[in-house]
Amino acid sequence: MSFEALGLHASLVKAVASAGYTKPTPVQEQAIPAGIAGRDLLVSSQTGSGKTAAFMLPALHKLANAEPAAPARTPAQNAQSARARGERVRFTPAQPKMLVLTPTRELALQVTSATEQYTTDMRRIRAVSILGGMPYPKQMQLLSKNPEILVATPGRLIDHMESGKIDFSQLEILVLDEADRMLDMGFIDDIEKIVAATPATRQTMLFSATLDGVVGNMARRITKDPQTIQI
Ligand code: AMP
Repeated sequence: MSFEALGLHASLVKAVASAGYTKPTPVQEQAIPAGIAGRDLLVSSQTGSGKTAAFMLPALHKLANAEPAAPARTPAQNAQSARARGERVRFTPAQPKMLVLTPTRELALQVTSATEQYTTDMRRIRAVSILGGMPYPKQMQLLSKNPEILVATPGRLIDHMESGKIDFSQLEILVLDEADRMLDMGFIDDIEKIVAATPATRQTMLFSATLDGVVGNMARRITKDPQTIQI
């Protein structure tokens, strides 16, 4: 099986070849076609299985094939015209198409850097990390560019959501990476709040070492007719 045979966009096939991937890993073989088809996914897999590409490649395929993001003008451009008209500038919230929640800053940064590697040929698609401990002005600057993809730890994301800096009404794809670890770290209420702010029509992909117990309950609650993949 090749990445091309999984139906991926040509620029993604090229990007994974440049990254040195010769063939999909087992989790990628199952998750990529299902993800492209728009299925919700519950995946039990470990770090090192290639799980980042398993959710990011089908998501990027879908975003690349979609219409350019609305609004056509970025929040920064809107603010500039408002200033030129002598109006007080209010921050226009970012409207991401995809959100990846991770338990730790380190994992968020890894996901963001893998995404940058996969999108070398997709200039329109930008991913930014929203992390606890990062200075607010820097994060506001990142959000003002209205990135298509946010990769975030739950606590800091809630701060921005509650202060109106992020609007999830245009969200198409939600990923929970290492969901069991996020629950172990006490993020359940934050996750519930974030999920509730996203459209019911979203595609949801949940990755976890285990799909039993509390994480399994949450997984079933936030997905619709999911395909379960156990590696
Ligand atoms: P992950 O499980 O997502 O943390 O990925 C573990 C490592 O495997 C990362 O360094 C990836 O770049 C690499 N990787 C992911 N998919 C493949 C693949 N199909 N072939 C070779 N390496 C891969």
